[in-house]
Amino acid sequence: MGLEQIKARVAAATQAAGRPEGAVTLIAVSKVQPLERVVATLEAGQRIFGENYVQETAGKWPDLRQQFAGVSVHMIGPLQTNKAKTALELFDALHTLDRPSLAEKLARLVQAQGRSPELFVQVNTGAEPQKAGVLPDQADDFIKACQLMDLPVAGLMCIPPDGEDSTPHFKALAEIAARNGLQGLSMGMSGDFESAIAHGATHVRVGSAIFGTRSAR
Ligand SMILES: *Cc1c(COP(=O)(O)O)cnc(C)c1O
Repeated sequence: MGLEQIKARVAAATQAAGRPEGAVTLIAVSKVQPLERVVATLEAGQRIFGENYVQETAGKWPDLRQQFAGVSVHMIGPLQTNKAKTALELFDALHTLDRPSLAEKLARLVQAQGRSPELFVQVNTGAEPQKAGVLPDQADDFIKACQLMDLPVAGLMCIPPDGEDSTPHFKALAEIAARNGLQGLSMGMSGDFESAIAHGATHVRVGSAIFGTRSAR
């Protein structure tokens, strides 16, 4: 298991960027991993996890939360509006707030429940048609619309296009966050988290480098 190595690399990249210790939160992405690998990571002390699917999370994390205190699970996959209510019961953070219909639904639920998950607006920095997220030139308006609905937006999230240098995408996301006064930057995965940290990531989402390769879903 690569948890200790990845933690060390996160710490080294944080220091190399001249950022304070603890400035970067490591999210261990456990989607479609065998349960024993997830349990081993919990036993090694990791408490913050990322998942992509509501159903998989519902089948796994309620039990694990009973066994391990202080767990926090972050939703990093696309969220259907009709699963928003269930998602609020399962997740402590949502990284994929990406459209007005979802924002409106969340705003109603958050108001009714009096608490909100930590929210990140997903920005489609590569403007890829098949990818979720608001387009970069629509991000400012969407962030403001969320804030007007009293949704507490903590930051922004991006998934750079496959096979491209992520650096311009990290920079673009950081710029949008800065001009909107947002602190959180959810960016960087197994292949590029060190560069993301150099560009200001506050949350890195690392799966295969911790757990090993995923089998197909
Ligand atoms: C699966 C996934 C990750 C983790 O990817 P790795 O390359 O395995 O680190 C990170 N972010 C999102 C949105 C994902 O879907």
